[in-house]
Amino acid sequence: MYTQIGEKVYQNYEKEGKANNDLLEFCDQIKQANDKIVELQDKLLEISGKKVCVSCQKEIEADVQFCPHCGGKQD
Ligand SMILES: [Zn+2]
Repeated sequence: MYTQIGEKVYQNYEKEGKANNDLLEFCDQIKQANDKIVELQDKLLEISGKKVCVSCQKEIEADVQFCPHCGGKQD
């Protein structure tokens, strides 16, 4: 239940952009960590010659014009 309370606080922080002063620092730290994860995942994809489909968000080869999963045209 404690974990669930934490998740609720963070979801609210993401939605409203604010949190109780005592919790704001923790929420900021989680956000920074999440941003870093996204950044590193992007880098990892780039290094492995892959990208994320613009339609279905699945991992695909970087050089394809159409997604093999959903058929979505890539940029
Ligand atoms: Zn797709």
